Amino acid sequence: MADATERLGEVSLELPKLTVHSLRDRTEEIIRDRLVAGALVPGPTYTIRSLADELDVSPTPVREAVQRLSGEGALEIVRNRGFRVVEMDTEALEENLFMRRLLEVEALVEVSSRIDPDRREVYERLIDEMEQAGQAEDYQRYLAASRTFHLGLVAELAMPKLTEMIGRLRDSARIGRVTRETNMVSGNREHHALVDAVFRGDGDEVRRLMIAHLDHHRHEWSDRPDGGESREGTAPLWRPRPH
Ligand SMILES: [Zn+2]
Repeated sequence: MADATERLGEVSLELPKLTVHSLRDRTEEIIRDRLVAGALVPGPTYTIRSLADELDVSPTPVREAVQRLSGEGALEIVRNRGFRVVEMDTEALEENLFMRRLLEVEALVEVSSRIDPDRREVYERLIDEMEQAGQAEDYQRYLAASRTFHLGLVAELAMPKLTEMIGRLRDSARIGRVTRETNMVSGNREHHALVDAVFRGDGDEVRRLMIAHLDHHRHEWSDRPDGGESREGTAPLWRPRPH
């Protein structure tokens, strides 16, 4: 994770600044990163104490962060023992995708109408980073670059609350899921097409591509090793346009 950030640092990206004011906020961000990266997974009960030791902080900020994350539904507190990661169910995933379609897709359409052409290089470099991570089958590195890519695009609008909200939605779709992308290579082909459409200012194409891109989360879900049985026979709340 650390070296991915370093590598991305060379790109001199102006990343959306998630305000990190306190130790609690910082601790929460670290736990969130671990959840998104799949370093904390559904199943085991984690203790506050062992996580605090690992992060080299006192139990208080960890307890507060866990409480906040449990309020979001990402974690579940196990009384007197610690916490567990909540596995995201199909309905929650559909809701998440619905919200991202409302927010993230339209944000990108807006970005395509006003982005500075000079910014293209930043996104080309992130695509290269994802390419290399895909070839190395380094999922965490891919994920870090993918997050920077997608949130970086949204952040071009300079609407920090929107960027933060979309960031939270993206992260929570990763939490409690099997952290294995079915196909990093084809995912990255879509990033190429998306960047082309964004910098051409083709809002309709951006919308079409981004809806299809989001829809792949559902495919990833059904490709889970357990066969995604829980979603059998469950109709999604919405269907993307055919493409
Ligand atoms: Zn992507």
